[in-house]
Amino acid sequence: MSFPRHRAALDALAQRGRLRQRATTAGLDFASNDYLGLAGSGLLVRAALDALGRGVPVGAGGSRLLRGNHPEHEALEAEAAAFFGAEAALYMGGGFQANQAIFSTLPMQGDLVLHDALIHASAYEGMRLGRAECRSFAHNDAADAARVIAEWRALGGPGRVWIAVESVYSMEGDLAPLSALAELAAREDAVLVVDEAHATGVFGPQGRGLAHGVSGPLVTLHTGGKALGASGALICADKVLIETLVNRARPFIFATAPAPLSAAVLRASLMALQDQPALAEGARQRMVFVREAARACGIAAQSQIVPVILGTDHRALAMAAVLQAQGFDIRAIRPPTVPKGTARLRVSVTGSVAEKDIAALFAAIAAEGRAAA
Ligand code: PMP
Repeated sequence: MSFPRHRAALDALAQRGRLRQRATTAGLDFASNDYLGLAGSGLLVRAALDALGRGVPVGAGGSRLLRGNHPEHEALEAEAAAFFGAEAALYMGGGFQANQAIFSTLPMQGDLVLHDALIHASAYEGMRLGRAECRSFAHNDAADAARVIAEWRALGGPGRVWIAVESVYSMEGDLAPLSALAELAAREDAVLVVDEAHATGVFGPQGRGLAHGVSGPLVTLHTGGKALGASGALICADKVLIETLVNRARPFIFATAPAPLSAAVLRASLMALQDQPALAEGARQRMVFVREAARACGIAAQSQIVPVILGTDHRALAMAAVLQAQGFDIRAIRPPTVPKGTARLRVSVTGSVAEKDIAALFAAIAAEGRAAA
């Protein structure tokens, strides 16, 4: 059987230089989200072996509402709720599913999801499936968010507002204005939904995230596959919202439960953050160093994610190839993942690189920039 329409669509992508591939990894890691270097660490390997030794199964064998619920899931959820400072937590198979669950389930008919223009694709997937109205506000602009709410209210918007942001943006590396947004949420009796995917383990006290300590109704999402070095995602919120997800969220109800082994490993990551403040502190120190190194290239970095914006796909791909040839694993990020005309390198500073490597990378970027100018 042939699939001529699929073939033609792929050929069209290739012609525009947009065909994507599952790339192999090589070189110093400046591309992953393993921000604390935990993924392959002895700490998590030992945690996995220990869990297997305790009889924790690799596979759940069913959904959480049927036979797949395991004490490891429940222990993880209790520990995560305590660590992140929420009433309750729910462990999902991944952040993508978690965002689908949150946005398709929690905002109800008549509500407004007011989201940052650069919110992650998974939040859009959830919004598409949900019943609430969805509007965006200009990236990181709390005043624009207030304007959109006022507009919606003026048209008779009856329900509750859910303000959806990422605390650290995955492709920009900048931080949401959380205190201004929390003030807005308080004024509007809104709920703040904060995707902490790139902040968990890195920002906040002992890596508890940037929303930690923010007052008012809060839903936070902490992914397990980034700084925490494992997989899955934890949604933290009021009990009534978590119970709503358990009863209504299709990505929770109709999916096989995450591997109990993975829950056990995540428990070890959270315990490490709690017991070894040096972990999050190390990430913070690396960030200070990164900021300085990026400044020398004229880039004002706010986090461990540094966008080197090059504009055209061609420039981004060419620069990535040059850096890869020098032993740096750097990837070009192109539209539609990022807005048109902002193709870039996404430099992600992980726990497995030394300061001298970071310095060498930014020196190479600066040299390439000069050569291209
Ligand atoms: N939210 C954000 C901001 C992300 O960057 C990602 C992953 N790239 C996700 C959610 C999805 O998380 P996961 O990879 O665990 O499915």
